[in-house]
Amino acid sequence: MTSSHHKAGFVNIVGKPNVGKSTLMNALLGKKLSIITAKAQTTRHRITGILSGDDFQVIYADTPGIITPNYALQQSMMRVVRSSLVDADALLWVVDVHDQDLPTDFSAKLLQRTIPVFLLINKVDLIGKVALEKVLQYWSSHVSVNAIIPVSALQAYNTALVFTHILTCLPEHPPYYPKDMLTDKPERFFAAEIIREKILRNYHQEIPYSVEVVIDAFKEEGNLIKISAIINAERQSQKSILIGKQGHALKKVGIEARHDLERFLGKKVFLEQRVKIAPGWRTKSQLLRRFGYT
Ligand code: GDP
Ligand code: MG
Repeated sequence: MTSSHHKAGFVNIVGKPNVGKSTLMNALLGKKLSIITAKAQTTRHRITGILSGDDFQVIYADTPGIITPNYALQQSMMRVVRSSLVDADALLWVVDVHDQDLPTDFSAKLLQRTIPVFLLINKVDLIGKVALEKVLQYWSSHVSVNAIIPVSALQAYNTALVFTHILTCLPEHPPYYPKDMLTDKPERFFAAEIIREKILRNYHQEIPYSVEVVIDAFKEEGNLIKISAIINAERQSQKSILIGKQGHALKKVGIEARHDLERFLGKKVFLEQRVKIAPGWRTKSQLLRRFGYT
């Protein structure tokens, strides 16, 4: 294969919270990179997933959902979304099959871009054929995009078709990254994300949104990886809930996280978790920067 016939490009995945963007990216990659839960705003950072073949390389970016920002963390999340509207060769705009909200001011901008936009109607496993027909008619009469594709990210239905569309609009370009690279984020980033996913799944109310995980040590020693994680909460009361009676709650998070970490990293993992209080981290830009938001 000569490099002149090699295609490579950037594909950004945008849409409201909870429509299934992260599930879709994982399905397109065939590997779980992005954390997924039923809670909105699970994805806080832009996460890149790279899919390479002999003659192509697609660099996907899973973004936080489009929301109206009302605190500093959300403003940082929206900057991530905005930057994803430029610098791409194609956009995957994901909507939930039950959602017929027309684009707001912000997402309307998305449609004025000159790059190809594919509207993916996700979660079609949840409705019947007749209802889906109506949904497709609705969207095709209201928006002008390169293609409208019904998909089920969860069941990988039509994800191959999405990929075919993507290939047609990738420019001829040599690979941007080594072919064996799966992501541009370091392993310790995923360690923090996996622990955060377990917290999102195990606690309720404000806890999931009040917590940030920082990896302060990540050491490989032969077949073992030693990971030390700090779980930052905003208040003492949250710290107590996180730890739970006799530490049971935190222990459960640790067991689940270690299991996933070992699968993801392909090595034995020793995981140490500590809960600290970082008052008001969501609103303080200095702390946000330390946690990797820009
Ligand atoms: P994001 O916020 O847009 O990244 O959405 P997620 O990928 O985190 O998914 C949000 C929720 O929708 C999760 O509970 C997923 O399991 C669920 N979900 C995603 N795709 C599908 C789908 O195709 N069908 C169904 N039934 N549920 C889905
Ligand atoms: Mg997500």
